[in-house]
Amino acid sequence: MGTRRDFLGKMSLTALSLPILYSPTSLFAACEQPYDGPMLRVAIMGLGSYGTRVAKAMVDCKRAKLVGVISGTPSKILKWQATYDIPQKNCYNYDDFDAIKDNPDIDAVYIITPNALHCEQAIRVAKAGKHVICEKPMAINAEEAERMVNACKDAKVKLLVGYRMHFEPKTVEVIRMRQAGEFGQPKFFQGQSGFVMGNPNQWRLDKELSGGGAMMDIGIYSINGARYMLGEEPIWITAQETKTDPVKFKEGIDETITFQMGFPSGAVASCLSTYAMNHLDRFYMTGEKGWVEMRPSTGYGPIKGRTHKGELLQPHITHQTLQMDGMAQLIFEDVQPLVPVDGEEGLRDMKIIDAIYKAVKTGGKVDL
Ligand code: NAD
Repeated sequence: MGTRRDFLGKMSLTALSLPILYSPTSLFAACEQPYDGPMLRVAIMGLGSYGTRVAKAMVDCKRAKLVGVISGTPSKILKWQATYDIPQKNCYNYDDFDAIKDNPDIDAVYIITPNALHCEQAIRVAKAGKHVICEKPMAINAEEAERMVNACKDAKVKLLVGYRMHFEPKTVEVIRMRQAGEFGQPKFFQGQSGFVMGNPNQWRLDKELSGGGAMMDIGIYSINGARYMLGEEPIWITAQETKTDPVKFKEGIDETITFQMGFPSGAVASCLSTYAMNHLDRFYMTGEKGWVEMRPSTGYGPIKGRTHKGELLQPHITHQTLQMDGMAQLIFEDVQPLVPVDGEEGLRDMKIIDAIYKAVKTGGKVDL
């Protein structure tokens, strides 16, 4: 991971050599300026592998800071306190974190726990009056996601989903090109998202905690990618499941699903979600006037991509650093990414996941 100086240095280089792509008051441009505005003070809930990655990335943030933790493991809390200089008064466990409502030094809670816990935890955070940042998938079905959206609306707090790709420079450039008509009318998207799942005893293979299999975890990237690469919402779904290892991937845990989506313009998407194959992190989109291929397309980077105009040259910057600075800008200055990261955006993906599972079950076409 680079230092803040590297980060800002890369930003300067980008701004000098490339147009500002993000939004008129873009984070790229803003990073050029000294910053003395408000800091988004974040507590991370769930100090596991991705929580650890986010915490490390936040060290380089300019607008967001890790100030608190919520964990069920006291030894982890002590370690994080020492590493990130977190005061005791900002440390909570899963039973007592509602008391965060009386803590004026925390603005937002970033939920990075197993999927099936997100809904209840997000609603508790909202009721405590703090902004909710929640990992993908935001919930395990659309009904839960809708309850989260409503709870955050009622509490007048933001609900943001950890869609880090919406801040990633090459992805943002492709979205900008699509919006500017540089590909012409998008016609076809292909998304391949998967890896070989290792440890058979982890929560990702326990439906009670994961809500599903590869689709919840990695297939969601192809769903979300299809939507931001094509710029439309699907109106129908078909899907087929195959399972080669029913012992490892029990009932309700999908191993491999291929799915197709149709869009109002007539564009179509064909995608693969799997826990049984490696080297699958690829997006391809073709339009009437051009095309783009990204591979890798959603890993931690560097993302690589090329279009009919040549290679995408935007720099690699740690995704979670950009995401958290971008979310701080969104909360404090209402600067919106080209594609939203709010609860409604997460809800759209959950509705599609529900439809995919329904299509697998019925074998038919599901209208959205
Ligand atoms: P992990 O297993 O490494 O960490 C999960 C954490 O939740 C652990 O610290 C664990 O102790 C805690 N936890 C709290 N209650 C628990 C319970 N009842 N059972 C099990 N664990 C419990 O998982 P992870 O890889 O950090 O994933 C966490 C979330 O982050 C998931 O929703 C996942 O989809 C998401 N994630 C997102 C990305 C991304 O790139 N955006 C990457 C990885 C994971």
